[in-house]
Amino acid sequence: MPSLKGKVQTVLGLVEPSQLGYTMTHEHLTMDYTCCYYPPPSGQEALSETSIEMKNLFWLKQNPYSHKENLLLHQETSAVKEELLQFKAAGGGTIVENTTTGIRRDMKTLKQLAEETGVHIIAGAGFYVGATHSPETRAMSVEQLTEVIVNEILNGADGTDIKCGVIGEVGCSWPLTESENKVLQATAHAQSQLGCPVIIHPGRNSDSPFQIIRILQEAGADTSKTVMSHMDRTIFDEKKLLEFAELGCYLEYDLFGTEFILYQMNPDIDMPSDNERILRVRMLIEEGYEDRVLLAHDMHTKNRLKKYGGHGYSHILENIVPKMLIRGISQEKIDKLLVGNPRRWLTFE
Ligand SMILES: [Zn+2]
Repeated sequence: MPSLKGKVQTVLGLVEPSQLGYTMTHEHLTMDYTCCYYPPPSGQEALSETSIEMKNLFWLKQNPYSHKENLLLHQETSAVKEELLQFKAAGGGTIVENTTTGIRRDMKTLKQLAEETGVHIIAGAGFYVGATHSPETRAMSVEQLTEVIVNEILNGADGTDIKCGVIGEVGCSWPLTESENKVLQATAHAQSQLGCPVIIHPGRNSDSPFQIIRILQEAGADTSKTVMSHMDRTIFDEKKLLEFAELGCYLEYDLFGTEFILYQMNPDIDMPSDNERILRVRMLIEEGYEDRVLLAHDMHTKNRLKKYGGHGYSHILENIVPKMLIRGISQEKIDKLLVGNPRRWLTFE
């Protein structure tokens, strides 16, 4: 078995870190998000059953989780392929595909997309949130869970010989479930054994990322190889955010393109706009965290594809980077966020 040290593991095999280019560290190319279906607001039930049409797009954008067909991204492989080619044409090089067990990871499709588009695709090992854990997963010990994760990286996932190159997104809820706690410990054990990158989906509470890092550290994980996803909807208070940044993990602003009036997953949260995200990222750079920030879209529903009036996988490269330049973030810093930081994170140690 070739050593992973100093390399990045894509679904087509090992590559040199210098080959990655512009990298989106949190996306989905094929997944089923039915687990997170939310009943529509009362009186709007009929909209949740209709097919996706122009006249429904605004409603769909505000209520993406209340439309059953919208949650089936795995039905859109040809549109995804086309939009990956647009990502590449816009200068994109690599996608980290965060679909883990529980939301229908599809290793063969990922391999096919990588072959057909030339975009580097890195697949995720491990398990999504506790609500998607099977009875078998829940019954496993930390040692057994570790073995599953290590195997997905060293030998291949879901009965294929196609290998994962990161652990995650590892799903955590608030409050954290017992099963999620075990998966986190297993993630830490696998991480320290393999020297691999890890990416976490925290619960929707500003204390959740702190709790997760504590559990990972106590179980022996390297925090500097860990990404905390969804910072844009998780820690709003600037003082608390800087306190969290001190813990040394990567801070990922990965919901670019998502703007809600009401966030169905937690109505208490005011989802920031892309302009607010850019100012947050600039603040972190000014505070000295330019080596710790990552960017992505977390594409996970159909309505975010260009095919359905969405922004697509190239939104950051096409629209956000130019706005960052206007807001005084230099090209050199942008290249750190989109090339240098992902490359360092994704390289096995
Ligand atoms: Zn995700």
